[in-house]
Amino acid sequence: MRNPEKTDSTRSTPTWTAKVLEIDRVLLNEYGTPDLGNLSDPTDELFYILLSNRSDPNRYPDVFIKLKNHVGCWDRLDKVSIEEVSRLMEPIGLASQRSERFNKIAGILRERLGSVSLESIAAWEVGDALSFLKCLPGVGEKSARCVLMYCFGVDVFPIDSHIMRVASRLGLIPRRTSVIEAQRRFDSKLPTGIAKQLHVNLIVHGREVCRPSSPQCPKCCLRGLCPKKGIPHSK
Ligand code: SF4
Repeated sequence: MRNPEKTDSTRSTPTWTAKVLEIDRVLLNEYGTPDLGNLSDPTDELFYILLSNRSDPNRYPDVFIKLKNHVGCWDRLDKVSIEEVSRLMEPIGLASQRSERFNKIAGILRERLGSVSLESIAAWEVGDALSFLKCLPGVGEKSARCVLMYCFGVDVFPIDSHIMRVASRLGLIPRRTSVIEAQRRFDSKLPTGIAKQLHVNLIVHGREVCRPSSPQCPKCCLRGLCPKKGIPHSK
């Protein structure tokens, strides 16, 4: 899978680019791009992400392991009854909705790719792979991009709620902008090759320092680059 080309990078302003590169440099120095627990196998990663959505972070990893052990390999997923899968998902809630979704995804993968595996999309164009993943039930832009970025090494930038908040406070995106608009801005302006490390480090920074209701501005490594530092805010 080839990395996407920046189609309108000429619109990138030097100040925005310089600022994001400096933020990336500081965060890399501070955190060094830690492992957030994402999985290298794309099918594992897809189901892992879907289990993580709206779930207790202390519970879904265990559910993933039990489900995978029970199924044996994902190619058997649509051979196991929805009720059995649902029972294993009970600790994280929405079990029946999730199990039906998994069954549907397994059916689509088997029909389109020949087995319940995403390995074959490695040969696809990035745009085709992204569109295919987003057509799967429950898979949105962020989840699809995470699969491409973590498992196929594609230089795409997934945006989650931590990244929206931190980027807004840092002035990289306008306040109250939509995720779609934020995604457009990063896609057109982000320098090549830093998507993964910036994604990971902004999430870590959002979890540990630039928290939703109590950002730790006095000890923040980005304080010198942040227009919001010291200004009371709740988001
Ligand atoms: S200075 Fe405060 S608001 Fe700005 S990035 Fe750091 S923690 Fe967040």
